[in-house]
Amino acid sequence: MTTEETGTPEEQAVDLLLKEAGGENIVGLIHKADENFPAAATFSSPHGYITVYDQRNGDPSLINRYMLTPMLKKKDANGKRIFWTSPPADLPPRPMGLNCMLHRNDPNREEYDKLGLPICIRVNLANPYEVLKHMQSRHKTAWGAIQEENRRKEKEGERRDKDADRKFQRELLGKTIKEK
Ligand SMILES: [Zn+2]
Repeated sequence: MTTEETGTPEEQAVDLLLKEAGGENIVGLIHKADENFPAAATFSSPHGYITVYDQRNGDPSLINRYMLTPMLKKKDANGKRIFWTSPPADLPPRPMGLNCMLHRNDPNREEYDKLGLPICIRVNLANPYEVLKHMQSRHKTAWGAIQEENRRKEKEGERRDKDADRKFQRELLGKTIKEK
């Protein structure tokens, strides 16, 4: 099997995210261009969750879409990206499967520790739906806390987007007035 390498990792990530669009139970999202995604991209995943892979050990974790940008920005001491939307190319591929969100290697673990959430050793959950099902049935209280945090982040994200839109509109308006 050959992997086609086209474009920068950022462009490849946008391609990957675009490829994910179009499935069932999809929550669409426009991602604004920033230093990680040079082009605005639409991507989707079940219930707004996205799989990221720890590039140091290949650990796959499901994260809320609002955590994607901060996660992709995380770098190690050598300036290498820690999380990415595809498994690390330099490690042997692992059998498919996702960690429980409460696994100790989860990208959000630090935050979950702060919330006092327990650690779960469950790995190899078949797909994002299985992770969500596992969370709902095995970690009811923790899952409630995580969802509340996600709602808070979503609101923050929406507010940030609205502020950015307003700023953009003001700038645009300022320009139009000057041009008159
Ligand atoms: Zn679990």
